Amino acid sequence: MSRMKEILGSLMLTELIKGLALTGKYALSRKITVQYPEEKTPMSNRFRGLHALRRYPNGEERCIACKLCEAVCPAMAITIESAQRDDGTRRTTRYDIDLTKCIFCGFCEESCPVDSIVETHVLEYHGEKRGDLYYTKEMLLAVGDRYEADIAAAREADAKYR
Ligand code: SF4
Ligand code: SF4
Repeated sequence: MSRMKEILGSLMLTELIKGLALTGKYALSRKITVQYPEEKTPMSNRFRGLHALRRYPNGEERCIACKLCEAVCPAMAITIESAQRDDGTRRTTRYDIDLTKCIFCGFCEESCPVDSIVETHVLEYHGEKRGDLYYTKEMLLAVGDRYEADIAAAREADAKYR
C-alpha cells in the first residue's frame, strides 16, 4: 500500500509541488538575510571580541599585575610577567594573549579588579599566520587606546547588571 502511495506521489509530482509552495511562501515574505558586511546586526554590550588593555584617563596602565586573569583563564592563553617600579607600584613587564588558544569565555574580563583587560566589540580582525594572533602587551594597549570610547560606553551601559 505504501509503495502504491509512493508511485502515485511521484506520478503526481507532489514533492515538487510542495517544494514550489514553500519557495513561493518565502519569496513573498519579508527578507531576513543580512547583507554583511554592508549591514550589521545589533550587538550586545557584553559581546566578547578582540581583547584590549585599558589605561586611566591620565595615561597610566590600569593593570596592577595581580595575575587573576592569568590564573582564571581556562585555555591558559595569558602569560604575565611583572616587576616592581621605582615608585613601589607593580606593573606587568609582559602581558601576552595567544588568541589561537582563547575561547572568548570572558573570565579574564570578569576577574579583573581594575577593569583593565576587556573584550571589545571588534570582531573583524584576522591573522595570516599563527604568530599574527599572538597579542603582546603593546598590541593590547594599542587596541585599548583606539577603542577606549566604545569600551567605556559599553561598560557604562552594562553597569547596572554587573
Ligand atoms: S576570554 Fe577566556 S580563554 Fe580568552 S583569554 Fe580570557 S579567560 Fe582566557
Ligand atoms: S589585567 Fe586585571 S586581572 Fe589581569 S593581571 Fe592585570 S589587573 Fe590583574
